[in-house]
Amino acid sequence: MVTITHLLRHATTRLSSVSPTARLDAELLLAHTLGWSRTLLIAERTHQPTPGEQAAFEALVERRINLEPVAYIVGHKEFYGLDLEVSPATLIPRPETELLVELAIQMAHRMAGSDRPITIADIGTGSGAIAIALASHLPNAHLYATDLSPAALAVAARNLARHGLEQRIELLYGDLLSPLLGPVDMIVSNPPYTILDEVDADVRAHEPHLALDGGTDGAMLYRRLIPSLHAYLRPGGGALFEIGAWQAAIIAPLIQTHLPQATFALYRDLADRDRVVVIEQIN
Ligand code: GLN
Repeated sequence: MVTITHLLRHATTRLSSVSPTARLDAELLLAHTLGWSRTLLIAERTHQPTPGEQAAFEALVERRINLEPVAYIVGHKEFYGLDLEVSPATLIPRPETELLVELAIQMAHRMAGSDRPITIADIGTGSGAIAIALASHLPNAHLYATDLSPAALAVAARNLARHGLEQRIELLYGDLLSPLLGPVDMIVSNPPYTILDEVDADVRAHEPHLALDGGTDGAMLYRRLIPSLHAYLRPGGGALFEIGAWQAAIIAPLIQTHLPQATFALYRDLADRDRVVVIEQIN
């Protein structure tokens, strides 16, 4: 008799050669196969999936062994406590990006003293993760979310609907800041910032290069964004960018050159690497 316990044990062994989170991967894939929650899976360990379900699960394990990310196989990912659809058209939201969301919420609270609704633009929104997390926690904010990929915007649109935020977030197609029709209070972005050759092979094989490739030193997009910030921000506006761990040495001089009156601070993620730059007093 093949039970959930057996299936998970067998799959975990097979996945442990390719994944540092083999057990979790196995649970997520089996829960997806059965259409169950992970909690139910863990509670019903003696349940016996049908031969058809076992075969379907094996097929998903096989995909994972070929290094396809679990989030693409199951079609969704949790970010900042919110369940989001993801597809190979969008980067998979990363836990370290939650730091950017937290810092952006803090900045919005500092601004909210003025009592007027604030406007925020998420540049290169992908699945919509950052914009949706901000809209969920900032009831007074109105958001714009831009992307250069129509396929990513389609995923983002479904995520707005999933969370009932269609009225609060406007999706805009286009390159970086150019789709914005007027200045906003805050600009947030997790732009492509990797050096593609240095990205993990499985990430490079499966996630969209448009969302990853930051050119020869990874900083190409900051060179385009930072000089134009002042034109797209209201007086007192601020900007937050996710950055690569080694990029502070490139970004600090860019800010000092193009935004000499601004103040900025770097924040480290849980792995103690530089991850977010917060820029204020841009105008
Ligand atoms: N954090 C992602 C990675 O290292 C990159 C995200 C990005 O380029 N914006 O794979």
